[in-house]
Amino acid sequence: MLYKKDLIENFPILKREINGKKIIYFDNAATTLTPTNVTNAIKDFYDYHNANVHRGAHLLSNEATEMYENARKTVAKFINAKTQEIIFTRGTTESINLFAYSIGKSNWLENKEVLITTIEHHSNFVPWQQLSKIFNFKVNYYNPENSLFELDKFFSNITENTKLISITGMSNVTGQVIPIKEIIKYAHEKDILVHIDGAQLVPHFGIDVIETDIDFLSFSGHKMLGPMGIGVFYGKKKFLKKLPPFQYGGEMINWVSIENTDFAELPEKFQAGTPNVGGAVGLKAAIELLNEIGMENIKKHSKKLTKYAIDKMKELDYINLYTSKDTSSVISFNIDNVHPHDVAQILSDKFGIAVRSGHLCAQPLLKQLNTKSVCRASFYFYNTEEEIDKLIEGIKYIKEWFK
Ligand code: PMP
Repeated sequence: MLYKKDLIENFPILKREINGKKIIYFDNAATTLTPTNVTNAIKDFYDYHNANVHRGAHLLSNEATEMYENARKTVAKFINAKTQEIIFTRGTTESINLFAYSIGKSNWLENKEVLITTIEHHSNFVPWQQLSKIFNFKVNYYNPENSLFELDKFFSNITENTKLISITGMSNVTGQVIPIKEIIKYAHEKDILVHIDGAQLVPHFGIDVIETDIDFLSFSGHKMLGPMGIGVFYGKKKFLKKLPPFQYGGEMINWVSIENTDFAELPEKFQAGTPNVGGAVGLKAAIELLNEIGMENIKKHSKKLTKYAIDKMKELDYINLYTSKDTSSVISFNIDNVHPHDVAQILSDKFGIAVRSGHLCAQPLLKQLNTKSVCRASFYFYNTEEEIDKLIEGIKYIKEWFK
């Protein structure tokens, strides 16, 4: 455990029991626990400062605006971006839809190709697939064997028409960490832009958009201690300036006449309507806690726990592991002849362990793995090796029970 200080006090869910067993939360890839500094920040906003932002001259509106814009500054600093480059969205899914729609509508992709992979979460798959039917671009798919990414094979899918690569930074099924720096370097040499789905990568590894030279990035607050309903879309200013808005309405305009509308500057151009101010305030508090713990420590802890769990699981010859040598934090597995839903149900009921089961919103990837569903245990900094021992105990019990 990394964050020993008042762990239970800061994560009240950990006080809960399931059928008399202390809860063990291994569903962090779906959403992380919410610490009290985050819920307190949200409560403080609604209790004392709640007002709509940007439009008001009154005190509360000014305070709300300041809190909202401070949250943007905190996010910008966290990924080493400029504040105008941070667009608040509902989460990764909305960020990718915003981006795919906007770039689809621009002329960047006109008669050209977007390269994605079949290891993507549906949210970095379906938008490209569907929007290519509306806008004038084509999607190419890198379909790796066994769902494990290999750099040279990926590169061989780049054609002279490829103008954009959109790829996950870390798989939510195999936990494989993708070599995004190498991809970006290679792509830029060929005048190809790169968008990274950072939903899993950012919470465990953080990211520096300058050092990596990422063009576009999407991530979700709720997978890094923040509340649900707030996420981030980042883009280099020079590109965001050229891209058309995603949604139209209030907040995103300079002026409106009957004939036409002049759009606001960044970031408002991409943020139509009343924003989720409480969510942004919560995300700020989440990032403050992550900074206090240190992303480097979180990364090391994730890697240590992952290795520990994989080594233990490998000792059980009836476990199918869907991992790679680059796996971190996310371990998908199946127990021979036991349905993953049964595994998840028994782990919860008998051991108080929360794992996910199903297709994990990655059906093309699961097809490659030759399975319809898997179990997934995913860790964060509050998890421990002792908890993994309990998981192994649970798996052994289930195997025995289904004999
Ligand atoms: N991409 C990846 C890799 C994910 O793991 C997830 C969430 N499971 C998403 C995108 C979508 O995130 P959200 O549901 O927060 O929009």
